[in-house]
Amino acid sequence: MSIIIKNISKTYKNQVALNSINLNIKKGEIVGLLGPNGAGKSTLIKILTGYISANNGEVKICGDNINENPKLVKQKIGYLAENNPLYIEMYIKEYLKYIAEIYKVSFQEIDKIIELTGLNSEKNKKINQLSKGYKQRVGLAAALIHNPEVLILDEPTTGLDPNQLIEIRKLIKNIGNNKTVIFSTHILQEVEKICDRIIIINKGNIVDDQKVDDLNKNKVNIETHFQKLTS
Ligand code: ADP
Repeated sequence: MSIIIKNISKTYKNQVALNSINLNIKKGEIVGLLGPNGAGKSTLIKILTGYISANNGEVKICGDNINENPKLVKQKIGYLAENNPLYIEMYIKEYLKYIAEIYKVSFQEIDKIIELTGLNSEKNKKINQLSKGYKQRVGLAAALIHNPEVLILDEPTTGLDPNQLIEIRKLIKNIGNNKTVIFSTHILQEVEKICDRIIIINKGNIVDDQKVDDLNKNKVNIETHFQKLTS
């Protein structure tokens, strides 16, 4: 298993954000995390990336416990946060060099990652000169530079125009050919397009977990299904 989540709970003061979550995610799976606002998606993602700790339970990424070996686990994870924090005054290559230095990755990897994320045509620009779609690509490039086994993306397609959406989805699908990808989204159709598996969270509980192929086989309308489970 690439990710093992056992009995993970998180409470902020009186607010239960996650209620004893259990999940196993296989190597190479692309998993879509769905749920209404406040369901607990970001909390789960923050726990998986070691950004915050759970109150109870255990997370293992590629066999290592996130609390026992946080540095090792972080080497195995690429994370694109919801608001894609970037140093916008930097040039793309300059920024990626800075990230590569943090991960102690050879600068030779930068050109490869620029190619993989389709940044070649823009590579000599400053980040603040880029469109939102290209900024997302820079965020993805930064998340991928150390060749992590697991890629975690918090709403990577929010705010993109239809063409940018298609391009970023293609990119995520392509990356998912040899990595485990878990990403949250509000775009229900997106999971059908990109994911192997869909997980729906509501009020801190997993209320559905199934293969997208099974949804399609059973001709389930994802919007109706989502509404039934979360409203
Ligand atoms: P989602 O990402 O699905 O919108 P979150 O994980 O952000 O959901 O939030 C889950 C619940 O936890 C919500 O009720 C939210 O208000 C609460 N919550 C999230 N972060 C905090 C925080 N830092 N302090 C207090 N409550 C929080």
